[in-house]
Order: sequence, then structure tokens, then C-alpha cells
Amino acid sequence: MPKMKCTCGEIINLGGIPSPHQYLFISDTDFDQFQDTIEAEEVYLKMKICIQCPLCLRLHIYKEGFDRSGQIYLLEKE
Ligand SMILES: [Zn+2]
Repeated sequence: MPKMKCTCGEIINLGGIPSPHQYLFISDTDFDQFQDTIEAEEVYLKMKICIQCPLCLRLHIYKEGFDRSGQIYLLEKE
């Protein structure tokens, strides 16, 4: 997925590795499996992916990889 289109219309370039727009997170239970060893590729595969649109700041969260639909979150207005 080298690019994705945000709901706001912004095209987010994901071609860079590492990407400045992509965040990785992992559940506490999944992370616990790496307590004694750290194998970067194994940890990466357990990560959920979050991409932040640099224009509107929406968060696109892919818990099951890019092949499945993500969830989109928008900041609440103050
Ligand atoms: Zn956006």
C-alpha cells in the first residue's frame, strides 16, 4: 500500500520506509510474548498499524493488516 486516500481527500504517501505517517502498536498480551527476546520482525508482524493523515489528523487503524478495512478516527472539536 504505497499510497492511501484519506476521507478528507489527502493522498498519504506510504512509500517511505520507515514512513513518517505510519505508527505501529501492539496489545499488551502480544507484547508480553517478547519479554525475554526481541526479534524485530516477529514484533513487527504482531503490530497493529495506524496511519495519521498529515492534513486532517484522522487516524486510520488497521488491526488486521491492509487487506481488511480499517477504522477511521477524527479528533473531536473543542
Ligand atoms: Zn485527512
